[in-house]
Amino acid sequence: MRDLKLPEERHPEKAHRPDQAQPKKPDWIRVRAPNSEGYKQTRDILKEKELVTVCEEAACPNVGECWSARATRP
Ligand code: SF4
Repeated sequence: MRDLKLPEERHPEKAHRPDQAQPKKPDWIRVRAPNSEGYKQTRDILKEKELVTVCEEAACPNVGECWSARATRP
């Protein structure tokens, strides 16, 4: 069963108090800027065909991974 109890130190009203500092997020949680060849090719095809994707409209953080695998959602 999922524990729905939120830790007190993450409560929004308490997040900016000096005695309740927000814990630093781990490095692995950050998404790197996409720069693979597959991503660039997918991006160029979409631009050339003037296609609109939900990936871009939603600013999806998975775009680097999906487009590198040449997967997208028109
Ligand atoms: S296909 Fe990938 S990048 Fe596009 S919206 Fe879905 S998860 Fe995001």
